[in-house]
Amino acid sequence: MKKRNLICTKCKKTFPIEQVYPRCDICNEPLEVEKVVTGRINEGNVLSQTILERYADFFPFTKIDKAISLREGFTSLVGSLRLASELGIKNIFFKNESQNPTWSFKDRGTVTGIQHAISLGYKKIGTVSTGNMAVSVAAYGAKAGCETFILVSANLPLGKFNPIAIYAPILIKVDGDYSQLFFKSLEIGKQHDIYFINADVPFRVEGSKTIAFEICEQMHFEVPDYVVVPTSAGGNIRGILKGFEELRLCGLIDKVPKMICAEASGCAPIYDAYISNAEVVSRVENPHTIAHAIENPYPPSGNEVLRRIRETGGTIVTVTDEEILQAQKQLAQIGIFGQPASAVPLAAVKKLGEKNFLDENDTVVCIVTGGGLKDTAVFKNHELRILNCRLEDLSKLIGSGL
Ligand SMILES: [Zn+2]
Repeated sequence: MKKRNLICTKCKKTFPIEQVYPRCDICNEPLEVEKVVTGRINEGNVLSQTILERYADFFPFTKIDKAISLREGFTSLVGSLRLASELGIKNIFFKNESQNPTWSFKDRGTVTGIQHAISLGYKKIGTVSTGNMAVSVAAYGAKAGCETFILVSANLPLGKFNPIAIYAPILIKVDGDYSQLFFKSLEIGKQHDIYFINADVPFRVEGSKTIAFEICEQMHFEVPDYVVVPTSAGGNIRGILKGFEELRLCGLIDKVPKMICAEASGCAPIYDAYISNAEVVSRVENPHTIAHAIENPYPPSGNEVLRRIRETGGTIVTVTDEEILQAQKQLAQIGIFGQPASAVPLAAVKKLGEKNFLDENDTVVCIVTGGGLKDTAVFKNHELRILNCRLEDLSKLIGSGL
């Protein structure tokens, strides 16, 4: 490992990077890897590079194990002038993270976390998740040949087990208070030498930086005005912001876009704290939203997201299930099918447009965090049109103007 510290996001206490300290032992806030201030993006062919190789200067690894990669990242950035015009802004782009190996942005943080785990000599990894992260860690654990522990809630619907179980991890349904499982897993990790790559551990956040690096490369280093991120635990939005900040510190870009944290109105702990001027996030009781991937009642990085949004002049928005479904459909109409959480940014942009928050000269990037086939139950909420006809009537039907 290169000589860098882990720093508490709140009290700034430092910890050695060679050890696993998932939280600060004083204030229990998340830690982050010290910011990179000198570095450049490696040249070469992205068809033969991994994200850890291309952006090696921005990671503290001295040796990169290419064999653990499933060729994550390097996802497309797709624009729509038609949507931008409807929204009254200059440009809107969608960073399509459903193109990752397990169909969500989680793969970036998983490969980075496993690289750290392996660098420290761990042979066992794990995570606590009910969705995208569980699938991602199970797949990457299989690729890396690690013993992989996936802890899920006992009441998880049956259909969600199999996409995790197919990778043959040690999958454990835990009966008890699921909200305690995150912190409990960190204790268990220490007792049993398991490196838990949970939602906002420092190296998962490091992996999310590559979303910012790729956006900058894809936009020829002309950074957008806003980046909108559907927010659950808070690690992804922190990582994306950190990525832009490091590129600016290294002199590769001259400004950092403002972050828009987008939550579902049925589960909006960070928004609630933001509008009530609170310093800390409170737990949401009875969370409910169609966007299950961001249904996190007590986000472990919530306080830090709140601090960073206030410091950097971004904002926090909530959108209803109805608005999410409408945006999901609109996104599909430009060819991108994301899971409900992935439609939250577009719904948020529409809402901000209505409030005149956005300007006609603004360029906005929305993060489409995961693929639509992750949640096929949502189809029943859409009025999908399917026509039927007999073979002999087909020409007549098509010619009828439909
Ligand atoms: Zn601290």
